[in-house]
Amino acid sequence: MKEKMLVIILALIGGFFPILLNLFKRKSAKNPIPENVGDVYDDETYTKWRSYQAEHSRLDLLSGIASLAVVLVLLFTNAFSAFASLFPDKLVWQVLSVILLDTLVSTVVGLFFDYYSTMVIEQKYGFNKSTIKTFVVDKIRGLIVSLALNLFLGFLIALLHSWLEDYIIILLTVVLFLFSLLMSFLYPVLSRIGNKFTSLEEGELRTNLMNLLTSHGYKVGDIKVMDASRRTTKLNAYFSGFGSTKTIVLYDNLVNAMTPDEICAVFAHELGHGLHKDVMKMQIMNIGNLLLMAVAVWISVREGSLHTAFGFSDVNYGFAYILTGIFISLIQPLTSMIINAYSRKAEYRADKQAVSEGYGEAMIVALKKLARENFAELAPTRISVLLEYSHPPLSDRIAAVERQISNKEG
Ligand SMILES: [Zn+2]
Repeated sequence: MKEKMLVIILALIGGFFPILLNLFKRKSAKNPIPENVGDVYDDETYTKWRSYQAEHSRLDLLSGIASLAVVLVLLFTNAFSAFASLFPDKLVWQVLSVILLDTLVSTVVGLFFDYYSTMVIEQKYGFNKSTIKTFVVDKIRGLIVSLALNLFLGFLIALLHSWLEDYIIILLTVVLFLFSLLMSFLYPVLSRIGNKFTSLEEGELRTNLMNLLTSHGYKVGDIKVMDASRRTTKLNAYFSGFGSTKTIVLYDNLVNAMTPDEICAVFAHELGHGLHKDVMKMQIMNIGNLLLMAVAVWISVREGSLHTAFGFSDVNYGFAYILTGIFISLIQPLTSMIINAYSRKAEYRADKQAVSEGYGEAMIVALKKLARENFAELAPTRISVLLEYSHPPLSDRIAAVERQISNKEG
């Protein structure tokens, strides 16, 4: 019983963290807007933005509370072991049943909130590009992907533990790392599914983008425009490819919304990340994070008492996966705080790259446009930035770019 209470308390703390973030976010909405970003939204847009934020944060708060409540009820009533007992007493079925229950319940609980968020709130503010049909297809696809991923990880844990016992920590770190590398390699491939890419037409923009890369010794495979506007209004650009040959991907929204100089500024920023090997450095930090996760897995599969406390006769690897999730919900906020602090530093450095390529002024305009399109928070509370911001607040970024421009001139 002691173990059961301990796990429930940990789940409560882990589940409470997103609720806490939400409360800080609500506080941010009441902060005065810094002077240098006063022109990002006009009054009407700003009022609209505030109510958009308020509606989302209310929904997030409810969804956070609902999913926490559901997890606590499932744990408290020993629902996982009860559900598993309906299936044959084979390892495969035992893992499958627990993960199935968990994935189905969280999808069903999330469904209402996702629907309301996409089809009601996003719709109301003109962001939604999904129809009921694409929403349903996306959700089914999401369910299949998360079920497959959860099962893969659940069985991986089972397999590795039976082979390696305590050495599972080291091997799991390696495997998780390779897996995350694979995912980041697969992302450009996966994002092609359902999207069309066309080569950027010849002209000033293409020439300037090419020049930016070639002046730093890169080769450009191609510059592609992705038809992201079918799904979203958000603006984005990224870099992909191993070695010195790169493919640049620009969202069509970005090409339509910005001047060539502003696109070059955004791109010079991405180049800054590339030159400082930020992706690689983040991957290295990620190893530390994964090591902690592996420790969480190890505790989950090792302590049989954590399983018997919830009605299982022995270690259930599906339930170990659930326990791991609970431990990770405690570890993750701390590690992501460290990684985000580094990321914010990297953002300043990447902005600096845009300044040194001569796109400082364009960068400021581009940052404002990005913020406007993404409805960014202009005056986040310091503690929110510290806890969850991977990018510095707009006002701070613009102030830094202005400093660098005057240093460059002076
Ligand atoms: Zn960046």
